[in-house]
Amino acid sequence: MSPDGPLERVSTGHLPDDATVTTLLQAAYALHRDVRDGHVATYIPQLARADPGWCAASVVSVTGRSFDVGDSDERFSIQSVSKPFVLALVIEALGADRARELLGANATGLPFDSVTAVEVHDHRTMNAMVNAGAIAASSLLQEVARVSPGTSVPDTEAAWASARDGLSAFAGRRLEVDDDVYACESETNLRNRGIAHLLRSYGRIHCEPEVAVDLYTRQCSLAVDVHDLGVMAATLADGGVNPVTGERVVSDGTCARVLAAMATAGLYELSGDWLWEVGLPGKSGVSGAVLTVAPGKGGLAAWSPPLDAAGNSVRGQLVTRSLSRALGLNVFASNPDPHDVPP
Ligand code: GLU
Repeated sequence: MSPDGPLERVSTGHLPDDATVTTLLQAAYALHRDVRDGHVATYIPQLARADPGWCAASVVSVTGRSFDVGDSDERFSIQSVSKPFVLALVIEALGADRARELLGANATGLPFDSVTAVEVHDHRTMNAMVNAGAIAASSLLQEVARVSPGTSVPDTEAAWASARDGLSAFAGRRLEVDDDVYACESETNLRNRGIAHLLRSYGRIHCEPEVAVDLYTRQCSLAVDVHDLGVMAATLADGGVNPVTGERVVSDGTCARVLAAMATAGLYELSGDWLWEVGLPGKSGVSGAVLTVAPGKGGLAAWSPPLDAAGNSVRGQLVTRSLSRALGLNVFASNPDPHDVPP
């Protein structure tokens, strides 16, 4: 079976058996691991140290079966792939309608850290997958802490604990901040601080701007491996229940809204191209991760540091596209009904 097969392959149930998934994952990885296009991100100095040859992928089914290939033991900072999960926590705390009102649900068509996008759109934050909306989402983490069990004072540290604990529940293990990335990004995140203050001027941020950016920078600095991201994606695919730990992390309704946000803007301004090619909600980050969700079936994660001009991992996109096609995961693909069953 070719890992770059045609779109017509359609899966209606679960992922195939273990041997088939293993074969397809290894074939997709082998096909793209030697691609040399793209450049490692340098605007956060710590990321510039990444080995451009690193490449790994993971598939985790909604029944908890997992398959990893490549440099799956290497850890990297989660970066923007944290955004859907913080959005999920905010939706749980505030409700979907209020979260949409405060953060937005539409694409900007502009780069993820665009200041222009804040100025030209009356909504300002636009969506939680770009930095403006994500920093605004982080500014609501005290509201998440307020509804978290055991929180007496929802201060900045309680807000951070809610984020770290929430993302850890998605991953099924306790995630820790990479202190070097956090320190380095805290020194260089002037643009994000500018966005936060600009949002404050429009009344679109909900705690002190510097606190919101600090929470956002910490969440971006959490260290993960590709398997963690596979489990996190599978939790979104499984209606909010982590299929490995069995813990309900968020509701099924929250997952559906998060996947809508990912489909709209998860791969920066190339999200339309991504949907065209892959047909699944995804989220990328500048450390080279691409996390993708096949609702009701499983999660895919691919990681390789060299990025395209928009900031998406070149090999990560190729491996995911091959897997989506080979496993028949495109949510827009259908075959004509054979009409052999009476209506
Ligand atoms: N922490 C990074 C930033 O805000 C995340 C960027 C990304 O992964 O898109 O610049």
